[in-house]
Amino acid sequence: MANNEHLMNTYAPMPVTFESGKGAILTDTNGKEYLDALSGIAVCGLGHAHPAVAQAISEQATRLIHTSNLYQIENQQNLADKLCELSGLDRVFFSNSGAEANEAAIKLARLYGHQKNIDVPTIVVMENSFHGRTMATLSATGSRKVQAGFEPLVQGFVRAPYNDIESIENIAKNNSNIVAVMVEPVQGESGIQIPDADYLNKLRELCNQNDWLLMLDEIQTGMGRTGEWFAFQHNKIKPDVMTLAKALGNGVPIGACLASEKAASVMKPGNHGSTFGGNPLACAAGLAVIKTMESEQLVSKAKDMGVYLLESLQKELANVEGVREVRGLGLMLGIELDQPCTELFSKALEEGLLLAIQADTIIRLLPPLILSTEQADAIVKKITQLVITLLQQEAA
Ligand SMILES: *Cc1c(COP(=O)(O)O)cnc(C)c1O
Repeated sequence: MANNEHLMNTYAPMPVTFESGKGAILTDTNGKEYLDALSGIAVCGLGHAHPAVAQAISEQATRLIHTSNLYQIENQQNLADKLCELSGLDRVFFSNSGAEANEAAIKLARLYGHQKNIDVPTIVVMENSFHGRTMATLSATGSRKVQAGFEPLVQGFVRAPYNDIESIENIAKNNSNIVAVMVEPVQGESGIQIPDADYLNKLRELCNQNDWLLMLDEIQTGMGRTGEWFAFQHNKIKPDVMTLAKALGNGVPIGACLASEKAASVMKPGNHGSTFGGNPLACAAGLAVIKTMESEQLVSKAKDMGVYLLESLQKELANVEGVREVRGLGLMLGIELDQPCTELFSKALEEGLLLAIQADTIIRLLPPLILSTEQADAIVKKITQLVITLLQQEAA
């Protein structure tokens, strides 16, 4: 039997190994089936083993997996075209992960600042944010748990409370080194924190007034997750920079940093790079994902299914004492309890349901965009039972 003996102790994985998947269903090595309401943490938006993605990457693999960014890559050009068409942005840098996409954004913001003769370019980041695990991105992250032990942190970030425009206005008055604001349209890791409906509009305005870049980390919210291709489209604004990863390759590692021409123009050959970033295989996956999302109209399906799931959960949990709030945007949903519920992670697994617990008290759901109504009903039923059982047992 395989074990964790030679794996670095960065995760404490559950004693379950999945062998195969189809759509929203995973099967473990004992043949037990699970309903996946987590999608590998917002990665497998099209569900598991989607035939269009499988075919695209297997075909590409028989032809060419990797060349180098020293040469043109047709899939990369095509994927960049498609992402720009969908987002209204102008240029793309491809990476292999979310953290690397954010690294590109941070480097771009610093170049942008130096070009304006700001010697200590500084980026406004938020409390309780998550931007990744590399040194720069963990420094940008608003969580001591992520940072502790890795000091000295990277300089050049100032922090503001999330969903608080006034605090950033105050920073604007007192700090002439600011070059950008980096923010998640919905905070995922800290438990589906949804800001006021006009928060991004106000941030856009503030960035315009101060000539700052608005940099949206859409690594979790992007690619249809919130019921729009990108969450900023709810606000009818456009960021200067946007980062993507997670669902872009449906599980094939790929990240992207998109920018407007104005922001992207600071990047010149030699400024930044990646050996693997945007290789033919990863971009074949990205192209297949977008094509499938378009042909199966998954963005509008995610919007509708998100409303259905939210309303069903709100209805079932409405009068349950101990449930503080049920909230969501598209298929990003959170159920906040008034007490810790970390044990629900393994309890749900036993019941054949995959979900995550954030900040000890919040159940996070990120089901695939292809979720059926029956599967949504099954999620609601299982969660309602789990939550009620937990709260009754705590009350007893
Ligand atoms: C997952 C995530 C990241 C980090 O992505 P990795 O691929 O793990 O490096 C960054 N920002 C947000 C909002 C995320 O959800």
